[in-house]
Amino acid sequence: MLYDAERDAEVVAAVTALFQTLGTEEPAVLDGLLALLAPHFAGLGTGPDDFYADPEAFVATIRIEQAQMPYATSWDSVWTDVRRLRDDLAIVAGKLRLLIQAEPEELTIEPRYTFVLERLDGRWLLAHCHFSVEDALLDPGATLATALERRNRDLELLVERRTAELNQSLADLTAAQARLVQQEKMASLGMLTAGVAHEIKNPLNFVTNFASLSRELLDDLDAEDDPEEAEALRADLRVHAERIEAHARRADGIVRAMLDHARTGESALQPTDLNALVDQHIDLAWHGARARDPGFAVEVVRDFDAEAGRVDLAPQEIGRVLLNLLGNAFDALTAAATPGARVIVTTRRNSNRVEVRVSDNGPGVLDDLCAKVFEPFFTTKPTGQGIGLGLSLSYDIVTQGHGGTLDVEPTPGGGATFVLALPANASKSTAPDSNEAG
Ligand code: ADP
Repeated sequence: MLYDAERDAEVVAAVTALFQTLGTEEPAVLDGLLALLAPHFAGLGTGPDDFYADPEAFVATIRIEQAQMPYATSWDSVWTDVRRLRDDLAIVAGKLRLLIQAEPEELTIEPRYTFVLERLDGRWLLAHCHFSVEDALLDPGATLATALERRNRDLELLVERRTAELNQSLADLTAAQARLVQQEKMASLGMLTAGVAHEIKNPLNFVTNFASLSRELLDDLDAEDDPEEAEALRADLRVHAERIEAHARRADGIVRAMLDHARTGESALQPTDLNALVDQHIDLAWHGARARDPGFAVEVVRDFDAEAGRVDLAPQEIGRVLLNLLGNAFDALTAAATPGARVIVTTRRNSNRVEVRVSDNGPGVLDDLCAKVFEPFFTTKPTGQGIGLGLSLSYDIVTQGHGGTLDVEPTPGGGATFVLALPANASKSTAPDSNEAG
């Protein structure tokens, strides 16, 4: 066998050019492949039944094979062997490593190839080529195209299976989230119960005291002969009856708020006295916190706008938001052991909206966490004390249920201020009606 290192380098260069041509999807470059074929191109094949003697059919086949590969591919050469048969005839054999990126998998195949190259007019031209793929990929008689097609089918099945698995996980997650939301509601209800018991004890004490006072007054009245004195006693009795009624109403309002809190699902918007609703929930939150921690000592300052009036809202839902905001402020102040811990609750009405601001002088929320605190499951509280759903639930209630906004901003001088804003579309009048909140 003649050996001419320089010429062999030429053969390798020709084969490299050929591979570069095969690897491109540019039609013009692919057409240029024709120029690399010897005039009497002997044909190609990847399997026993796969033989093209026609150079045009060869190019078309390569196009089809490329079109059947919807995945990104890259290749490199594992080995190449050049054998010179004659001065103008060479056989090149080699093995390629073809990397197919079919997310989430990466598939490697290693086809072997044989090229017959002929030297004509000073150029090495392709006279014959043959590719074969690993036996594992091939059915008897299959071509590279059918092997890839089969691989594609397998990969599609894999993708389908993974998609089904992902859908199942998503369904499981959604169910788990719904369970957690319910748990959060129940947990906050549990925390409320202790506070509510305390809240109700006050008005009940008043009711008991005024009732026993009234009984004594009645005894006095029975024994009274002086009509003027008797009239004064009756006036006192009337005042006591009014007080008993007022305190009983207050107890009733508290129980109603607690039951509303436990109720799930959407609820209708109704004109509601905003200040009364906020006032009642401050009491609930404060006594809830005190019941859990007898040392709890956060001062709550009410700064209410007398013009806040009635607002279209779902009282139990907005009540839940207020309890979350107040509970978070209390938690932040208690955890940081802030001296002079204070929460200021402000209500304001302007022409088209009402605002409730819950402002604490605690550690505040870091700038880059301001958006995060509204995400489900974001919590900085120790395990068991927070699951991070309070603010995300509140956000949904305010934005989706009421067309309002819920934001957090720094309190001047330190701390966090949560701003709940609602469209002010109900009449400002606070004249009592059957829908009054508490
Ligand atoms: P959770 O109370 O279960 O943690 P939330 O969604 O109610 O869930 O609150 C999420 C997080 O937002 C809290 O863990 C806390 O880091 C932060 N946060 C909420 N309110 C305040 C506040 N007033 N001051 C400081 N951080 C707060």
